[in-house]
This record gives sequence, structure tokens and C-alpha cells, in this order.
Amino acid sequence: MSQQIAIGMDIGGTHVRVGAFDSGGKLIAQSDASIASLKPDSGLSLIERLLHELLESLNSPALLGIGIGCTGPLDTVRGLINNPYTLKGWSNVPIVERLNKTFNVPVRLENDADAAALGEYWQGAGRDAKRLYAVTVGTGVGTSLIVDGKIYRGVDGSHPEGGHQLIDPNGPECYCGHRGCWESLISGLAISSHAQSTKNNKHLIVLAGGDPNRLDSRLVAEAARTGDPTAVQIMQKAARDFSLGIVNIISFFVPDVIVLSGGVMKSADLFLPTLKQTLKTPNPMVPFDRVKILPAQLGYYAGMYGGAYIILNEVT
Ligand SMILES: [Zn+2]
Repeated sequence: MSQQIAIGMDIGGTHVRVGAFDSGGKLIAQSDASIASLKPDSGLSLIERLLHELLESLNSPALLGIGIGCTGPLDTVRGLINNPYTLKGWSNVPIVERLNKTFNVPVRLENDADAAALGEYWQGAGRDAKRLYAVTVGTGVGTSLIVDGKIYRGVDGSHPEGGHQLIDPNGPECYCGHRGCWESLISGLAISSHAQSTKNNKHLIVLAGGDPNRLDSRLVAEAARTGDPTAVQIMQKAARDFSLGIVNIISFFVPDVIVLSGGVMKSADLFLPTLKQTLKTPNPMVPFDRVKILPAQLGYYAGMYGGAYIILNEVT
């Protein structure tokens, strides 16, 4: 009998990553490709080609299913990608139906933050945590809550967006329609737009080669490390706002583990001291000290692991 494998796939705004996992959960082969600027039909054909090549490299094993984590918004119930924001032109794309027809196996679609959180629960930083909350800070802020190994879902299967919790009603406008939500204050884009619009940023613009548009969050973090006062101020504010969001999450859910990934961990030296200090504030109502805050372990591959976990959990 040929080897049984599950496919885990992660579709982001720029890349698609696919991995083949054996029935014991071991990653045995992987592949990736750029999906940036591909229209849906070419994107789906590319994904099919990647999968065919991966399966052929494994001598055509018995495929158990395909689990996908994808950048949202999605309709996970109907299996549609509906994300014209970061995947231009991808409105109501029936990826589940298409891959199901091509490969004739179960195909599942989940939000990328949920898939990544499941991956960290399965084989990463939050291994077997009864209640795991995951936060990824990148261009935006993705969050997910996993309870007893299952994705927490809102009404009609909706995906709660902790990244759009409101922190500062006087803060910047967000595309979600509110002001001062978490993402609009702490994401990479938020930090760069704060730096571009703040007073006394001449030194920072020089660091960006004289072009304010190239003043990104990485440059601001680097300048803060060298003691540039404007950059220090921007990063301190972001660290403070980041900490307030984490305090809210703990107050609502008291998870066993919060797994952090993305820019916030790349700048851990600038963010985490403020968070630790904030969490030290005595609070007799919530056991803040019982919540472990850990860096993610699976990096860009977390969503791929999560996709495979969904399939293996369902069919084995
Ligand atoms: Zn928002």
C-alpha cells in the first residue's frame, strides 16, 4: 500500500507554500512559489502544478486531503477566497471546489491566522496548550484563538479579528471603519506611516535615503536601537499600544499561552520589555502571571502545518 500523506498549504499575498506530511505528522517534502500579481485562474493552475510535482516526487502517494490556510477575507463554509485586497482580482474564487475536482480528496479552507495558530498548537510553541491565542504582527495584525485544538469561530463561522480591537478612539483611521484599532497603531504599516507623518523626522528621512516613502518600520526600529529620539518615541508608543492589546486579550480569555510572531518578534528587544512591565501591574481580578508569552517556532511554515493538521485530524 502506498504511503498516506496530507497536504498543508499556505497562501499569502505574495507566496504559496505547500508541504506533504506523513500520517504521523512529519513533514516529508515541501515546495513554494511566488503568487504575487497572478490572476485567480493562473494562480490556481500554479497551485495545481506545484501539488502535482510534489506528489510525483513522492511516487504518487495516497493523498488524504488538502488543508489550506489563506489570507482573508474568505468564505470558509463555501470554500471561497474573497480577498481582492492582497490578492488582486481574487473575488469569490472557488478554490475548494476546484482542488476537490482536480485531486478528488477532501479540501478544507481556513483563515491563515487560524491555520498558523493550529500549526503552533500541533508542532510549535503552543504544543498542546488547552487555550492558545496567536498574534502575528506584519503588514497587518492577525489573531486566532484555539481552544482544545479547535478554532474558535464567531457567528456563522466568522473569524474574530483581534487585530481590530479598539485601543485609541483618537488614533489613526483604519480601513475597518474605526479609529485607533490595534492594527492601525502597531502594524508595520502603522509604524512607517507614523514615522512619515511625525514632526522631527528629518534624521529618519535621511536614513531612508531622502525618500519619506522608504521610511519603513524596519528602519524606524534600527534607528530606535541607535538612540534616535524620534524613532525611540515612535517605537515606545507602538510597544505601549501593543501591550494594551495583549492586556485586553488576557483579560478576555486568560489563555494558557500567547504565541507571538512577525515584526513584533523581530523587534522583540523594543516591544517585550514594555509588555513585561505592563503585565506587572498588580491585578487581583486576572492571573496575568499564569499566561505564558512565547515566540512562534514554525515561522512562515506555521500555516502549512496547520493545514495538514486539519486534514490528519479529520481523516485519520
Ligand atoms: Zn481596524
